[in-house]
Amino acid sequence: NSALDLLGWDEQVNLPKKSAAARASQSSALSDLIHRESIHPQVDDWLNALEQDPNALTTEQQCVVQEARRNFDRAVKLPSAFVARRAEHQSRAYHAWVEARKNDDFVSFAPFLKTQLELAREEAGFFGLDGLQAYDYHIDNHDPGMTASVIGTLFDSLKSEIVPLVKQILSSAVKPNLSMFKGFPIAQQEAFLKRVTASLGFDYDRGRLDVAVHPFCSGNGEDTRLTTRYFVDNPLDSLFSSIHETGHGLYEQGLPLEHLGTGLGTAAGMGVHESQSRIWENQVARSRSFWDYWEPFYREAFPEQLSGVTSEQLYLAVNGVSLNPIRVDSDEVTYNLHIILRFELEKCLFSGELDVVDLPAFWNEKAEKIIGLRPTSDVEGVLQDVHWSSGAFGYFPSYCLGNMLAAQLWYSALDALPGIEIDFSNGDFTRLLSWLREKVHCEGKRCDLMNLTKKVTGKELSSDSLIRYLKERYLPLYQQT
Ligand code: ZN
Repeated sequence: NSALDLLGWDEQVNLPKKSAAARASQSSALSDLIHRESIHPQVDDWLNALEQDPNALTTEQQCVVQEARRNFDRAVKLPSAFVARRAEHQSRAYHAWVEARKNDDFVSFAPFLKTQLELAREEAGFFGLDGLQAYDYHIDNHDPGMTASVIGTLFDSLKSEIVPLVKQILSSAVKPNLSMFKGFPIAQQEAFLKRVTASLGFDYDRGRLDVAVHPFCSGNGEDTRLTTRYFVDNPLDSLFSSIHETGHGLYEQGLPLEHLGTGLGTAAGMGVHESQSRIWENQVARSRSFWDYWEPFYREAFPEQLSGVTSEQLYLAVNGVSLNPIRVDSDEVTYNLHIILRFELEKCLFSGELDVVDLPAFWNEKAEKIIGLRPTSDVEGVLQDVHWSSGAFGYFPSYCLGNMLAAQLWYSALDALPGIEIDFSNGDFTRLLSWLREKVHCEGKRCDLMNLTKKVTGKELSSDSLIRYLKERYLPLYQQT
């Protein structure tokens, strides 16, 4: 699996244009091998034997067996003909999405999306699930134990607080000025962000940072591959997406290496993974104390570009809030509304209330209601994300669940580590990383998102901490005179 992962990384970072077909056949050969090995009947025999007497196993061993069983069942219950059909459609749907996006033409993409949704339903059907249960199955693939009903309750309370908060921030006379971010040479951006990410604790002796079209983190703790992208006129994009991916990388590097490949050495799920990227990107790297330390170095790297900019202006730009129809270009306050929109639409698609052909109209109507902005085209609306074209339903909620957990962890860390923000203003991030290592990373997959939250923070996962954090950070900033 890690070899396949590396081929995938290489495809996005290094692969010459005409070598794509060769890479596809290499990846396909490895996938077949992995699938064959993972559904080997002997694995089932071994698992059955181990499951005979669970009390004979330690808690750690039980975690390993449960994770192996989950993976085995998920692999074996899907007929290979279905898996092949799904893979084939996935590639066609992806290319149809790229084309449709280029031409702002949802109609040409609709039949592919319809099939993608049917395949998602069919997949859940192999586990005897349909309707909203099928949606739960896909959510569970990304965040074990999570359901649409639990997410719906969490998101409703989040929405009721964030919608008025966004209105309040946007009505302020204080507006961030992003015009300062012009002409930032890429070499200096790269040098600066490598220094920042190393200071956060990313181990460059067992990881790399390269350039790709979309930032991502792949690999594992032995060899962690991060990617970012650079824009001369948008240096905050590369800086914050690198810090975000570094957070994912720190989690991978913090999972117990001796258990790599088993449940004990595997991330707890997408929501927990996202909490690790968000806490570094937002709670840490958008904080005053972080910039107290890094601002002089940032100015040293870009002296002319920042010459007329005050500290306050720079800090406000780092924490800029504005309405944007595009999710990935949104700030951390409005971002959550983009996720709630997608979750509500996915729920309607799986329950049958919404037909794929009506999706653009629904999207635009809901975007206006939830985000406060009506897209002017489908490229700005329903066609903007790659996820559905690849059949990744139930994935979006993880981003927002990660934001909630990040804020909840943040307040627990502040309680447990007095003076931590003074450390940050001295460029020292080690205490926070050690705390996350001990409380979250070392756990592997022993607990799911909900149980881990309870175990580490002493409270159930809720939207309270995220709301509190956003108000504490943004209201004073936008109340300045
Ligand atoms: Zn992420």
